[in-house]
Amino acid sequence: MAIALDTTITNEPAPVVDGPHNPSAYRPETLALRGGWRADPTNGAVAVPIYQTTSYQFEDAEHARSIFGLERLGFGYTRTSNPTTDVLERRVAGLEGGVGSLAVASGQAASAFAVLALASAGDNIVSSTDLYGGSWNMFANRLSRFGIETRFVDPADPENFRRAIDGKTRAFYGETLPNPKLAVFPIAEVAAIGRAVGIPLILDNTAAPLLARPLDHGAAIVVYSATKYLGGHGTSIGGLIVDGGDFDWAAWPERQPALNQPDPSYQGAIWVETAARLGVPAYLASVRATMQRDLGAAISPFNSFQILQGIESLPLRIERHSQNAAAVAAWLKRHPLVRWVGHPSLQSGPTRARADRYLRGGYGGLVGFELDDAATGARFIDALKLFYHVANIGDARSLAIHPASTTHGQLSPEDQALTGVTPGYVRLSIGLEHIHDILADLDQALAATRQSHPA
Ligand code: PLP
Repeated sequence: MAIALDTTITNEPAPVVDGPHNPSAYRPETLALRGGWRADPTNGAVAVPIYQTTSYQFEDAEHARSIFGLERLGFGYTRTSNPTTDVLERRVAGLEGGVGSLAVASGQAASAFAVLALASAGDNIVSSTDLYGGSWNMFANRLSRFGIETRFVDPADPENFRRAIDGKTRAFYGETLPNPKLAVFPIAEVAAIGRAVGIPLILDNTAAPLLARPLDHGAAIVVYSATKYLGGHGTSIGGLIVDGGDFDWAAWPERQPALNQPDPSYQGAIWVETAARLGVPAYLASVRATMQRDLGAAISPFNSFQILQGIESLPLRIERHSQNAAAVAAWLKRHPLVRWVGHPSLQSGPTRARADRYLRGGYGGLVGFELDDAATGARFIDALKLFYHVANIGDARSLAIHPASTTHGQLSPEDQALTGVTPGYVRLSIGLEHIHDILADLDQALAATRQSHPA
């Protein structure tokens, strides 16, 4: 018996929401569980099936030709689209208030594609100094080898972004809640500077999903490492690029040539026009059809499924991560061996004002603190019993790491200082264990640093 192909799952990655920033869509708790999916139209399966397939049977030669020719949307090959991944893309777009998203193999791939879709050799981007070490390295040492310059500026003064622009600046880049400083990015201020001259703000929202919705404040594109809080259980690497859909690329033909000039890799397609004809966002169409096609950082359908599972409980988890982290920060602040604690709940002045403006429902699960020196930091890490010592954040379990020798270890000491990493700095990603157990482990590990101290 032939199985009917149902167009609701084989076609048309339409927006899950009724427009940019979905004011009237379902609330996040509902979207996290239900966005982008009702049931499998062929058999009624309620859980999103894992479509573990590389390819899709075309209806006929004309159907295949029209998909490849970008005359219609449809699944052709899992490197560029997949039905399981499509649900993930719709769900995250809905949660962010975007008009669509692209899931990729990792957060690194998401950041790279987000920039490479706009910038070519000879161009530049202006990036916040407050970055994940891997993003810093990619910009400073990898994209530079492709001829793309990154101008790093301190986001504490948003005007630094304006000062760094020239005629070849294609994008601004930052992180909503960057560790280690955990000083929230001035989203609206920097986005407005860019929008006035045709430069989109790309914001990495990895550390603040649901807490912050950067598109509501003017960011044009949001990227995620889905490996962290979205997946939430430390099982699967993935990334996402979300398009806000309200950046007018066509209005800036000289500033944004990648989307406004004929693309020889797609029979001269001009992305702002091709996308308008298809009814999809131009930026996202180009990232999927060129970056993902050519560089191939496809996410596996199984990982898309795992990340969807994680997102179902994200609203509950992010609330508890934030509560536990605030309790840890307050406790560490009173501890005599701790020199400094970083968490938005402890900030004051303009930094706190930004946290309160852009974060809703909590200040996130990351806490940083400083011990006397690198050796004390290492003794603390080695004494932890409950916390895992891993290079990850956003897991349901509590995690700790010493950034100067690990995540930021490939940066020069000067660059480490610019990103806020000092030798005695310890990063905690506070999990969902009982707060008493979390504090007890920190207490005994801090005590152990004193016991084993040679002086
Ligand atoms: N962005 C941030 C803020 C991160 O913390 C990370 C990873 O630690 C990444 C991006 C890269 O993500 P992935 O490890 O999924 O490639």
